[in-house]
Amino acid sequence: MSTELSIHNDFDLSTFNTMGVSSKASHFIEISSVSELQKAVRFAQGKKLDILILGGGSNILFKNDFDGLVIYNALKGRDFLSDTELKIAAGENWHELVLFCVEHGLGGIENLSLIPGSVGAAPIQNIGAYGVELENVFLSLEAFIIDSGELKTFTKDECKFGYRESIFKKELKGKAVITSVTLRLSKDHNVNTSYKALSEKLAEKGISEPDIKDISDCVIEIRQSKLPDPKQIGNTGSFFKNPVISVQHFNQLKSEYPDLPSYPVTERQVKVPAGWLIDKAGWKGRKRGDAGVHTKQALVLVNHGNASGEEIWNLATEICLSIKEKFNISLVPEVNIIG
Ligand SMILES: Cc1cc2nc3c(=O)[nH]c(=O)nc-3n(C[C@H](O)[C@H](O)[C@H](O)COP(=O)(O)OP(=O)(O)OC[C@H]3O[C@@H](n4cnc5c(N)ncnc54)[C@H](O)[C@@H]3O)c2cc1C
Repeated sequence: MSTELSIHNDFDLSTFNTMGVSSKASHFIEISSVSELQKAVRFAQGKKLDILILGGGSNILFKNDFDGLVIYNALKGRDFLSDTELKIAAGENWHELVLFCVEHGLGGIENLSLIPGSVGAAPIQNIGAYGVELENVFLSLEAFIIDSGELKTFTKDECKFGYRESIFKKELKGKAVITSVTLRLSKDHNVNTSYKALSEKLAEKGISEPDIKDISDCVIEIRQSKLPDPKQIGNTGSFFKNPVISVQHFNQLKSEYPDLPSYPVTERQVKVPAGWLIDKAGWKGRKRGDAGVHTKQALVLVNHGNASGEEIWNLATEICLSIKEKFNISLVPEVNIIG
């Protein structure tokens, strides 16, 4: 360990990724201030090391060991810029932020309850659930640009948000470290109950005029009943994105599979649930050693104990090939694959 910067060598990342795979970083540092971040980046540049920013490790698969510097983001703090505008440091926990907002009567992110991970990673894939995406409440973010060393503010437009997409997964992939995110929330919020599972849960509970706390509670309940808890069984949530296909392709498939669900995207394109395709292809609950497909939700790949990142990746590849063969659809991972 270097004294000045607390850099750890051959650092075990198995508890730093929710898939729970074993992987080692040749160099690792935890940063809790922007100046520490700057020093860490300079250290990596001096030694020509690759850099990987790590938050909660809930959307990452380490296929192998990482030869480079992992910078673990522990930037903390929340600041009210006005009654409804909140600037949050990137290392804050996302779900704790949601609970804080609900407690303070600030609406807008209650549908995003219980999504694991850090605030700083939320814009990377424009996190979304139950009819709401981060971009709905997003105002701006600050990021440290690795090459130039400058701190830059990005507006919503500049982030180029899309479905599980942003500029930080494309042009700026690996080039910017998000240090804070500013959200515009609402004290007089119209709750979003458009998502079927959510409206059904509210009806089941006899709640006809839900407030943000009702929404958050229901989302938590639904998620706990459907999704595996990474503390019990390693996983990264949805492993693949829901593919977008042409209406023509969809109509062909629909004639063969009348129960194929779809969500309109444009006049010419529809989104189909990757989980449905994987289930229909017979993968739900299947295993390859300790790498498996979850028994309740086929979109979630799980680590039954000692699966390596490579074994999980091999299973994912096998699933992709089978979906391509059966439906002529190419699945794309939502998870960030490292190595
Ligand atoms: C059980 C479960 C359920 C989930 N449900 C959902 C869901 O409903 N909706 C959804 O959208 N996602 C969901 N996810 C995925 C995941 O929680 C989100 O993508 C989350 O935002 C990842 O945060 P993280 O801090 O763990 O990111 P990490 O996994 O640590 O990092 C993800 C990527 O972002 C980069 N990164 C992280 N922090 C920064 C930063 N500060 N600056 C620059 N780059 C950075 C990393 O290098 C990596 O490429 C789920 C995951 C699990 C395990």
